[in-house]
Amino acid sequence: MPHAVVVGGGIGGLSTAVGLHRIGWRVTVLEQASAFAEIGAGITLWPNALRALEALGLHAQVRDLGAPQRSGGMRTGTGRWLLHMDGESLARRLGRPMLGVHRASLHTALLEALPPDALHAGVRIGELTEDGTVPGLDLPPADLVVGADGINSRIRAQYWPDHPGPSYSGITSWRAICRRDEHTEIATSWCMGREFGIVPLVDGRIYWYGAMPAPEGARDADEHAFVREHFAWHSPIPELIDATPAADVLRHDIRYLRTPLGSYVHGNVALLGDAAHAMTPHLGQGGCQALEDAAVLVAACARFGTVTEALRHYDAERRPRSQQIARASYWSGRLGPQLVNPFAVALRNAGMRLIPQRAVARNLTRVCSWTPPRITLP
Ligand SMILES: Cc1cc2nc3c(=O)[nH]c(=O)nc-3n(C[C@H](O)[C@H](O)[C@H](O)COP(=O)(O)OP(=O)(O)OC[C@H]3O[C@@H](n4cnc5c(N)ncnc54)[C@H](O)[C@@H]3O)c2cc1C
Repeated sequence: MPHAVVVGGGIGGLSTAVGLHRIGWRVTVLEQASAFAEIGAGITLWPNALRALEALGLHAQVRDLGAPQRSGGMRTGTGRWLLHMDGESLARRLGRPMLGVHRASLHTALLEALPPDALHAGVRIGELTEDGTVPGLDLPPADLVVGADGINSRIRAQYWPDHPGPSYSGITSWRAICRRDEHTEIATSWCMGREFGIVPLVDGRIYWYGAMPAPEGARDADEHAFVREHFAWHSPIPELIDATPAADVLRHDIRYLRTPLGSYVHGNVALLGDAAHAMTPHLGQGGCQALEDAAVLVAACARFGTVTEALRHYDAERRPRSQQIARASYWSGRLGPQLVNPFAVALRNAGMRLIPQRAVARNLTRVCSWTPPRITLP
C-alpha cells in the first residue's frame, strides 16, 4: 500500500488525505497545532470547490455543509446597490449555488472521513526528508510528501530555498461570526479603500469580514471597537458588529505569494494550497483552489503508475490555473475595493451599475465552471 505523509491539517491537507485514503493509500497527516481545528470564521465555497469535494467522495457531506446564497451583490458605503444578482439565475449558469460555510463544519466533515490513526496533532515539522521520516513516529517510508502547510510553508522553504516567501498585501482583515434572525443577503460594501462583506451561514449565523489598508503587524487594543469605528456604514453592518462578542473578532494581515513558483513539485514532494499559491482573498478562491489541487493530485495518483508521473501531471494541470486565479484575485482587489481616487471610484461605480448580470455571470463562470478529473477507485 503506498504511503503519503501530508504536512498540514488545513483544508488542503485534509482534503488530499481524504482522497488518498479513498483510493487505498495509507495517509499520515502531521499538524503543528495541539488539535485539529479551524478558526472561528466562514468561507465561501464556489461550485468548483463543491465539485472537487464531491470528486473526493464527500457528496453527502457537501449537501449539509452550508447555506446556498440566493441573491446579493455589491454596495457603496451608503448602502446603494452597485450590482444586485439574482442568485437563482446565477446558480443556473454556474450549475449550482455558492455556499456560505462555517470553517469548522468543513473541517469536521473532512476529519470524520479519515481514520483516527492517520491524524497526528502537535507535530511541528521543521525539515522533512523525502521519505517523510519523523523522529518519534513509527511510520513506513513515504512514497509521496505533500506540503500543505500553508502560506509560511516550511516544506516550501526547505525544497524551494530560492523562493522569497510571502509578501504583505498592505491590507489587514477582521473576521467574525454572529447571529441575526432577520433575512440577510450576501453582500460586499466598498467605501474609501475599505471593504465589508456579509455571508449568511446556516442556523441564523452570519459570517462577516472587513478589510482595509494598515501597517503590517499593527494591532488595536480593542479590535471590535476599531471595526465599529471604521466599517459601520449602513444597515445591517452596525447591527452585525454589535451582535458579535468582542472577543470573537479575529484580525489577520493579508499576505500572498507575490512571486509565483516555477514548479509545485520537487522529487516526490508536492506543494498544495496556500503553500503553493497563497492568494489575496478578493475572489474567495484560496480554499477553493486548495480543494481543486487535492482532487487533481488524488486523481493523478490513482491514474498513473508512478508518483513521478502523477506529480508531473499535477504540476502541469494545477500551476497555470491556480496562478492565473491568484493574479485575477489580486487585480480584483486593486481595481475593486482598494480604489481610493474619487475619479477612479466614480468610474468604477458607474461601470458596475451598467454591467449586465450576464456579463458578471460570464466572468464568474470562467472561474467556477472547473470540473474535477474522474478519480478511479481501485
Ligand atoms: C480574510 C480571508 C478570507 C478568505 N476567504 C476565503 C473564501 O471565502 N473562500 C476561499 O476559498 N478561500 C478564502 N480564503 C483563503 C483560504 O482561507 C486559504 O486559501 C485556505 O485556508 C488554505 O488552506 P491550506 O490548507 O492550504 O492552508 P492552511 O489553512 O493555512 O493550513 C495549513 C495547516 O498547516 C499547519 N502547519 C503549518 N506549518 C506547519 C508545520 N511546520 N508542521 C506541521 N503543520 C504545519 C497549520 O497549523 C495549518 O493547520 C480567505 C483567506 C483570508 C485571509
